[in-house]
Amino acid sequence: MCAVKNAVKLALGVDLGGTKILTAIVNVRGETLSRDYRATPVQEGPDGVVKAIVDSVDVVLRQAGIAITDIEAVGIGAPGISNPGTGTIITSPNLPGWHDVPLRDMVAGKLDIKCFLVNDANAAALGEMSFGAGRGARNFIYVTLSTGIGGGIVVDGRVYSGSTGIAGEIGHMTIDDDGPLCNCGNKGCWEALASGRALEKEARRYIEEGANTTILACAGGELEKVTARVIQVAAEQGDDLAQKLIARTGYYIGVGLANLINIFNPELIIIGGGLSNMGDMLLKPALKEAAGRVYKASWQAVRFARAELGADSGVLGAAVFAFREES
Ligand SMILES: [Zn+2]
Repeated sequence: MCAVKNAVKLALGVDLGGTKILTAIVNVRGETLSRDYRATPVQEGPDGVVKAIVDSVDVVLRQAGIAITDIEAVGIGAPGISNPGTGTIITSPNLPGWHDVPLRDMVAGKLDIKCFLVNDANAAALGEMSFGAGRGARNFIYVTLSTGIGGGIVVDGRVYSGSTGIAGEIGHMTIDDDGPLCNCGNKGCWEALASGRALEKEARRYIEEGANTTILACAGGELEKVTARVIQVAAEQGDDLAQKLIARTGYYIGVGLANLINIFNPELIIIGGGLSNMGDMLLKPALKEAAGRVYKASWQAVRFARAELGADSGVLGAAVFAFREES
């Protein structure tokens, strides 16, 4: 039986986020043998987070009934700016206080196995390319619309990572030179205008100014509970402001998509992330705006698809990264 079990190569994927860690044992066909999901103890700093990753790895190994020596390698997808070459997280808005943290070597030292570090959005692009909506595509862009905006650029079948591994920060292209301040310190970034966080900020601003809207009521009367999901519910119930704010977010999404299409001439754009679950009310204005801004030939060449792997794209992609780097 062991020979059969070991015939298919296995990797361990870790999707490290600011709020949760998803760990899974994945085979080369993208099948998950076991998984563990737990909160990220961000307040405990890098040592606490590494311990949580190691504990999570122990759980998935036990669940699958295998040893760490049965695993080819570990791929860790992490948020923020990291250097895959050195395995270091340079800085990460989702991991406060992390600067030049050698995460790859910290985890490798505890697990005694080869580990690799990859940007989380690049990992998600790899996941979709290998097992999801990007199968068969050679040139595509994965866009994740969420609290922020992230992405991965696939050129000729490989994730384009730039000269030092930090390419693909599409959320931080400037859309409005005098726009709202972004978490990165710049003004008018795509994610400062078109993300879930941007949508929430705008809604709260209107509510504070006394706008006539049911959004606050949908949030139980509490301003801090005004989330993108709440705004969506208000819009679905016919709230005029909610509908306008979502359409405006879609407009800005379209402006950014137009830039990407004109620059990269992709065959496919995969759209994922929680915000994209709003569907047509968000994506229709986005595609309309993009269509009006790009070269016709580029528009005719591109198709759009929703991400297929949902919350698993990152962990599967991290495992794919491990397979690729190890081979
Ligand atoms: Zn920014």
